[in-house]
Amino acid sequence: MATFGTLSDRLTETFRNLRKKGQLTPADVDGTVREIRRALLDADVALPVVKEFTAAVRERALGDEVNRALNPAQQVVQIVNDELIGILGGQQRRLQFAKNPPTVIMLAGLQGSGKTTFAGKLAKMLEKDGHTPLLVACDLQRPNAVNQLQVVAERAGAAIYAPEPGNGVGDPVKVARDGVAHATRQQHDIVIIDTAGRLGVDAELMKQASDIRRATQPDEVLFVIDAMIGQDAVNTAKAFQDGVDFTGVVLSKLDGDARGGAALSVASVTGRPIIFASTGEGLDDVEPFHPDRMASRILD
Ligand code: GDP
Repeated sequence: MATFGTLSDRLTETFRNLRKKGQLTPADVDGTVREIRRALLDADVALPVVKEFTAAVRERALGDEVNRALNPAQQVVQIVNDELIGILGGQQRRLQFAKNPPTVIMLAGLQGSGKTTFAGKLAKMLEKDGHTPLLVACDLQRPNAVNQLQVVAERAGAAIYAPEPGNGVGDPVKVARDGVAHATRQQHDIVIIDTAGRLGVDAELMKQASDIRRATQPDEVLFVIDAMIGQDAVNTAKAFQDGVDFTGVVLSKLDGDARGGAALSVASVTGRPIIFASTGEGLDDVEPFHPDRMASRILD
């Protein structure tokens, strides 16, 4: 994963210098924390997250746990690792299923974030686990969006519910509701609702997404965010949190060469877990998100 290349290199360098020392003085700790702070900011991690993170590392690194350690530098690396896992959400959070099927999963996010592609990826993953997902096309804003979901559904070998072509603009809330009813009738155990995305956050889009949420009572609302959007990640995530109150995050385009700040900020800023990471355009390029594995990758 190239996303964290620079951040990873800089932290490795910081720790290499630290390992050359034996016992650590408070000045050593401060110097290290300053370097970590700069590396995180340069990686586009949001300022409040950086502050909280470095304060926690500093406090623990100046405390007894490091003073008493046989290898203080290694102990600091361990603390950074723990705190990284913390800002990435702590424990792995799995997708939640309804007690009574169908489980309804709604996707939301900006246009181009990778929602439609992820819908196909999710369908394919779930099918491998023996589920029978139905994709529901509720992006009726863009003329080509329904068609695009149809292509993705075909590639994933998944069923799709879409309004008939030529039926005018259509009402996405009705399509969502009818889609869930259709899934129940046809005994699909999971419904994946693709919603409209716009280039920027806008009130009408949020209202529509929120209406779909209310009408279908999803078990999960997944906010798909492009890891490449850098500093915009925090504001976009907050806007979607206010607008649709998502239950989990999908980080997409983690294969890109962006600096990774979105990934490191979004769980912490919204308090919502990252559930999946998307790492390419192919339908198999997706994996459940593990905070501990991601932290290890960054610190490797
Ligand atoms: P939507 O507008 O949110 O539905 O976004 P799309 O699913 O249409 O994706 C927008 C573009 O990003 C398409 O060209 C996808 O092939 C591409 N894309 C989606 N997910 C990923 C990913 O994880 N990595 C990369 N490199 N490209 C992706």
